[in-house]
Amino acid sequence: MSELDAHLASLDRAPLPLPSRAGRYRGYADVIEELARSGAHALRLGQSVEGTPLFAFDVGDPDAAKVSFVVAGLHAMEWIGVEAALQLLARLVARPPRDRLVRVVPIANVDGYRRVERRLRRGERAFDRTNARGVDLNRNWPTHWSSSHLRAKVFPHLGHGGDAPSSEPEIAAILASLDALGRPLDRALSLHSFGRKVLYPYGGVWRRPSDFEAHRRAAVAFARDLPGYGVTQTARWVPGAFAPGMELDHLHDRYGALALLVELGAGGFRANDPATWLSPFRWFNAPAKDLELSSVVPAMDRFVRGEA
Ligand SMILES: [Zn+2]
Repeated sequence: MSELDAHLASLDRAPLPLPSRAGRYRGYADVIEELARSGAHALRLGQSVEGTPLFAFDVGDPDAAKVSFVVAGLHAMEWIGVEAALQLLARLVARPPRDRLVRVVPIANVDGYRRVERRLRRGERAFDRTNARGVDLNRNWPTHWSSSHLRAKVFPHLGHGGDAPSSEPEIAAILASLDALGRPLDRALSLHSFGRKVLYPYGGVWRRPSDFEAHRRAAVAFARDLPGYGVTQTARWVPGAFAPGMELDHLHDRYGALALLVELGAGGFRANDPATWLSPFRWFNAPAKDLELSSVVPAMDRFVRGEA
């Protein structure tokens, strides 16, 4: 039995009682089951703070000079990104790229995903972003990292950047797997929600990377056929709001990737629907999930294949 099958066999299975109109989002066990059946090569990277195994899934030529990397689920409640990664993986397995390896980490914050699931089952409506010890896993990457415990004092729900760069086992495991490739990354894609934006480096500093124009062109090409999606440098999305230690900056500076971050969905808040007013899960996870992803996943597919 593979490590992934053994993990699946250890999980309690139950359908997720999501509120009506919340879309067909799935609990952790259902996601792991789909991954176990995906046909992609599972690779155990390490484990989370709470001891949940962390997996990557490889498709394509493992010896190719080019590598594309996809990460989703860094933030606990951003489940639409996980669903997008699963749909992308299915497309890659159906038509494996010949010129490259594509490595996908579909749930980076496994403890966070499982905690959100437990909260949904209890009917709680909490905002939830961090890993099991309150660290924002998209502020723990080494490039442009800074201690952000002050932010955590003012906004504890947002988390902080950790005690040191890659202090968190989830980030350390991902970085070790990328280092072990021994090759630069051609493309990198990170999936988040919400805001219908395609973002590019840098997020930790106002300055632009030297290959800024290539990033802007790739972002514009990505968003071209997507209804309502805009493009911007991360640090300039909300001026003054920097993102020190984010994945985009590190995937670009350390591994040389053309790196994009996609904020999926417009947000589930509806002024005319009181059921959405106090439901952060709906803000972050578009109720019409498949409609939202129907145009985005093909754009993701073209990008990671290097076709656009
Ligand atoms: Zn996010």
